Amino acid sequence: MTTVKSDLPAPCVHLIGAGPGDPDLLTIKALRLMQTADVVVYDRLVSPDILDMVRAGTPLIYAGKAAADHHMPQAEINQLLVKLAKAGRRVVRLKGGDPYVFGRGSEETEFLARSGVTFEVVPGVTAASGCTAAAGIPLTHRGLATGVRFVTGHCRADVELDLNWDSLADPDTTLVFYMGLANLPQIAEKLTAAGLSAATPAAAIMSGTTPQQKVVLGTLADLPHKAVAAGLRAPVLTVIGKVVSLAALLHLGFLDEDAPAAASTERAGAT
Ligand code: SAH
Repeated sequence: MTTVKSDLPAPCVHLIGAGPGDPDLLTIKALRLMQTADVVVYDRLVSPDILDMVRAGTPLIYAGKAAADHHMPQAEINQLLVKLAKAGRRVVRLKGGDPYVFGRGSEETEFLARSGVTFEVVPGVTAASGCTAAAGIPLTHRGLATGVRFVTGHCRADVELDLNWDSLADPDTTLVFYMGLANLPQIAEKLTAAGLSAATPAAAIMSGTTPQQKVVLGTLADLPHKAVAAGLRAPVLTVIGKVVSLAALLHLGFLDEDAPAAASTERAGAT
């Protein structure tokens, strides 16, 4: 096959994980690419503080959910990335957390690969590690959890979550549910029915690592109710397992400057 030479650079998209919200959690690579991109296509979960780190004057294209609850369809985002890259632009596709953890990032790179556009994936701090660190919850701990599972809590409104509850109901595994806020009652009920103790510690972390962070601590039995009472709104990460019991103690060691919201959790716990 002959290659047609062109003055344009080879089409390329950098698919970048922006982390959970705190701009200090960006990788140096992410920051460097954000400051040299010709155009940035970003998602709803990318915080305004992070967008502020894009070089001034760079066009920003929003590809997330709009006010009227309307998404740019995935197929349209895919086409947009290909179009921009083939026009010779240095494209940064910025996604919350890690691009390959529940972010549909791999659907975008599948399409790029099929379209002959080269790409690079820059990993980011996924919500499971960023939000738990900010809430004083270790994902594993000797004697409390021998492993951790990242699970989607999302499904269409009119269907039940299709998960293997028997395999999830393991008291020695930390469960991290992404996108699970609306289904929290169902998650708690199914896990309990599958044999996980209703007294298992559980936490819901809203907007982790940002100034809006709110952490609600409870048990499998009372977390759904407490999350509603606390007025939690997306994005919320739910963590279930014995490791959550360490949060109260581990908060005490936080540097105030690093964890403004952790202090508010403790106050909430004390009331
Ligand atoms: N790719 C992302 C996840 C996208 S799915 C990542 O790796 O983190 C979106 C879900 O991620 C949200 O519904 C929520 O469950 C979780 N999430 C992402 N950022 C979060 C944050 N700052 N605080 C709490 N949950 C967050």
